[in-house]
Amino acid sequence: MSKFSEYTKTIFIDGQWLDAHNGNTLPVRNPATLERITEVSYGDEIEAEQAVRAASRAFPQWTGQTARERSQLLYAAYEKMLENKEELAVTLTMEQGKPLKEARAEIDAAASYFLWYAEEANRLYGEIIPSSNKNKRLMVIPQPIGVVAAITPWNFPASMVTRKLAPALAAGCTVVLKPAPETPLTAYRIVKILEEVGLPPGVVNLVTGDAVSIGKCWMSHPDVRMITFTGSTEVGRLLMKGSADQVKKLSLELGGHAPVIVFEDADLDLAAELTLASKFRNCGQTCICANRVYVQQTVWDAFVEKVKAKVQQLSIGSGLDEATDIGPLINEEAVRKVQEHLEDAVQKGASVIYGGRRWKRAYPGYFFEPTVLANVTKEMKVMNEETFGPLLPLQPFADEMEAVRQANDTQYGLAAYIFTDSLHRAYRVMEKLEYGIVGINDVFPAVAEAPFGGVKQSGLGKEGGKEGIFEFVELKYVSMGIR
Ligand code: ADP
Repeated sequence: MSKFSEYTKTIFIDGQWLDAHNGNTLPVRNPATLERITEVSYGDEIEAEQAVRAASRAFPQWTGQTARERSQLLYAAYEKMLENKEELAVTLTMEQGKPLKEARAEIDAAASYFLWYAEEANRLYGEIIPSSNKNKRLMVIPQPIGVVAAITPWNFPASMVTRKLAPALAAGCTVVLKPAPETPLTAYRIVKILEEVGLPPGVVNLVTGDAVSIGKCWMSHPDVRMITFTGSTEVGRLLMKGSADQVKKLSLELGGHAPVIVFEDADLDLAAELTLASKFRNCGQTCICANRVYVQQTVWDAFVEKVKAKVQQLSIGSGLDEATDIGPLINEEAVRKVQEHLEDAVQKGASVIYGGRRWKRAYPGYFFEPTVLANVTKEMKVMNEETFGPLLPLQPFADEMEAVRQANDTQYGLAAYIFTDSLHRAYRVMEKLEYGIVGINDVFPAVAEAPFGGVKQSGLGKEGGKEGIFEFVELKYVSMGIR
């Protein structure tokens, strides 16, 4: 299961699996063991351009199919993903590192986007507007935007791909996809599944290779009508600038710096358990991970005790080991960033309550202990920048107003979480939080049926929900004079 040979052809254009034109390849490594899993094709602007041409050619036929026909293919992809769940999960863990139980949950979630948009494909309704002129009829018709370029990150190698592909395909768009260089194999397996269920050639094209030259080609190509991206705010800005000349549509899921506010009236066991679950999921490498925890002064001691007791129970190791709760970080650079944020915090007065060291006990990979910090202040990097690693800073607060002010004091606006058993407080605080997503006594808000997306510098647009498919359509307004 999930055996790859020395080399895997991963470029897929117009229904053909290809090598890069110059024969270049890139190794994919397991971040726990550092072993090489395989080499994949490493293309550039040549393949990027060919992929756009194939997607443009395929567009009229794909968009001409009925919604029901597109829906049936998406439903078949959903079923096939679940049939292959174990193998997909193992592939995902091998290249990305997260514990198998998380990888399995990600495959379920990834498949659910195919299911949800198989359903939504059939509900892409337009509108008839009552006209103020009795000799006119006014209509609004949704039409697919055209060729979509999708660029995805390594932290969710399956669900970030399907969260873009499923609504784009449901709407009638064709796609060129570039996955992250760290995790091309999961994307390759998903595109294989789409091929196996009979997606026509050219409807989805996969280009693994050099991000900069592929990105440049897609930003400047007139046939690419939209870029949908998940990744860093820095690259998001670059894509916005690069797309400005052609006024391309953008959907951007960028960075976050999620605050957690634990109020004195919260269920503290639940709050401690879910705060840790949010923080240490995927070793802290999700854009909605808890980044800063504000704890009401009156329950500080009790909450810290609970966090300490629970964090000790987490077991570190290879994601392929069923007992593992915390796998490796993605690469050496990720470990370096965690160390930098930790050193900066300690140097500015933070105390390490738990963890704090690189972990090298059983594997040579990129492991870091789950780490809890107290005595943190606003000036520390960990309180402002995305650490994308297992650091959990805790800070006390006196009252609700102060907590809300601190929570909102950031350029980011993706997800925020509050723990309280007061209905009044929950609603009051939720309304004041400047975030696209708020979890109340919940830290796992990302589901296919709800709109996920950030405000401020966390991004543009929504993924998931009935809203997600509308990102991939243009609304055509038709005004018809009648006799
Ligand atoms: P991270 O820091 O999490 O790796 P990035 O924003 O760098 O996030 O990467 C997210 C995705 O964007 C990846 O597929 C990556 O290859 C791609 N990417 C990185 N730089 C560029 C670029 N200049 N143009 C287009 N895509 C890029």
